[in-house]
Amino acid sequence: MAEPSTYYELKDVIKGEVLVGEPMSRHTSWRIGGPADLFVVPRDIDDLREALMYARRYTIPVSVVGNGTNLLVSDLGVRGMVIKIGPGLAGIEVRDNTITAGAGAPLPRLAARALESGLAGFEFLAGIPGTVGGALVMNAGANGCSVGERVKRVTAVDYGGNELHFDRRELGFSYRHSCLAQKRLIIAEVVFEGVPGRPEEIKQRMESYLIRRRQTQPLEHPNAGSVFKNPPGDSAGRLIEQAGCKGMRVGAIEVSPRHANFFVNLGGGTARDVLKLVEQVRRRVEEKYGCKLVLEVQKLGEF
Ligand SMILES: Cc1cc2nc3c(=O)[nH]c(=O)nc-3n(C[C@H](O)[C@H](O)[C@H](O)COP(=O)(O)OP(=O)(O)OC[C@H]3O[C@@H](n4cnc5c(N)ncnc54)[C@H](O)[C@@H]3O)c2cc1C
Repeated sequence: MAEPSTYYELKDVIKGEVLVGEPMSRHTSWRIGGPADLFVVPRDIDDLREALMYARRYTIPVSVVGNGTNLLVSDLGVRGMVIKIGPGLAGIEVRDNTITAGAGAPLPRLAARALESGLAGFEFLAGIPGTVGGALVMNAGANGCSVGERVKRVTAVDYGGNELHFDRRELGFSYRHSCLAQKRLIIAEVVFEGVPGRPEEIKQRMESYLIRRRQTQPLEHPNAGSVFKNPPGDSAGRLIEQAGCKGMRVGAIEVSPRHANFFVNLGGGTARDVLKLVEQVRRRVEEKYGCKLVLEVQKLGEF
């Protein structure tokens, strides 16, 4: 493992940002998370490779994040290097029915480009605040659609810096899951396939989804979207609400009175508070319905 003093060597090698002890609360939609030993934002794919080579040379553990909108980061932070895939790998190109997007591209921008290009099938992404890379790992979805259905090919980089290519059938997409999560890969670029559609109809669908989100989700407080996955054939939000958990609180974390599967940070909430509330809600739902809810948010760091 590298001495912290050598972290600064990386600054001379890569063009992007290198931050030491960066609070992860600045990079999660929950505004929760302690410091990352080393936080790197590559400006392009060469930077990404350099960062990985440096990590390998000094046997530094590597974690990857996108927009941090599905992440619960420990209050103790993350040991090793956190690589944020963001604006440096966020290009979007459209050709005929295909859209090639960098893994750091924000999903609302992907949806907007699809609309501009008269391509349907991306409307559901307009209100999901993550990146293309994060969406692929999670197989993000809404309104009966999921991102995996639109994928043609994926370019990823392994932790040794080697480029790998996959097509959709190799990625094992299922409800909020893809086999990318187990592969220790960094997604770099994704080729999607759309369906030609009428822009005014695409726009209408997009707007109706966005209106529904604003009506049903507590977007005024930091949150990480749905905390639990929906159990087969049911909705986690319904079970949590029926179990009487709306408004339950631990510290500054509250089960939203508006949407029971959203836990909101009322200011200064911690990962410890979130996990305590997760256990309390889980216990109540299990006692009432015999159903053990499974976390959708991903834990990162020392728990
Ligand atoms: C208000 C709100 C609404 C939401 N609505 C929805 C919804 O409707 N549907 C839904 O599915 N989700 C929803 N989410 C959750 C979240 O936005 C999605 O899961 C999103 O796809 C996560 O992307 P991200 O870039 O934020 O990933 P992160 O949270 O940063 O990371 C998620 C996981 O992906 C991995 N990862 C990220 N980028 C890469 C990469 N380039 N290569 C390899 N691994 C990577 C991380 O290691 C982590 O395991 C919502 C969240 C919020 C806050």
